[in-house]
Amino acid sequence: MDFGFGIAPSSTINLDKVDRSRFTRLHELEPDVYKCMACGSCSSTCPAGRFSGMSVRKVILALQRGKEKEAVRMLKGCMLCGKCSMVCPRGINTRHLILSICRIYNEEQQ
Ligand code: SF4
Ligand code: SF4
Repeated sequence: MDFGFGIAPSSTINLDKVDRSRFTRLHELEPDVYKCMACGSCSSTCPAGRFSGMSVRKVILALQRGKEKEAVRMLKGCMLCGKCSMVCPRGINTRHLILSICRIYNEEQQ
């Protein structure tokens, strides 16, 4: 029977099957990443967010879920201004965290 609409594909993620190797490496470099409670304070203060879609909160979640392309796309919009580091209630140095993520990708390209 055609109702004229369809059900959206499931966005379920099987965490046992996704590649979380980069997030594991990030945790080695930045143990504080586990302190993130996804509050979004970093994203709401980011001056680049509105124009580029950059969000530290979303980058961390994307890496946890193995969504590499999504994370890289957002990271390209970061200006490394460090404003997000000043508002994190967990005291995470988000600017340094972003640099560590870039370092991981740079290491892979060498
Ligand atoms: S402000 Fe800190 S705790 Fe909140 S989402 Fe950003 S990194 Fe995570
Ligand atoms: S360092 Fe990057 S993510 Fe953080 S506030 Fe600045 S532009 Fe946004």
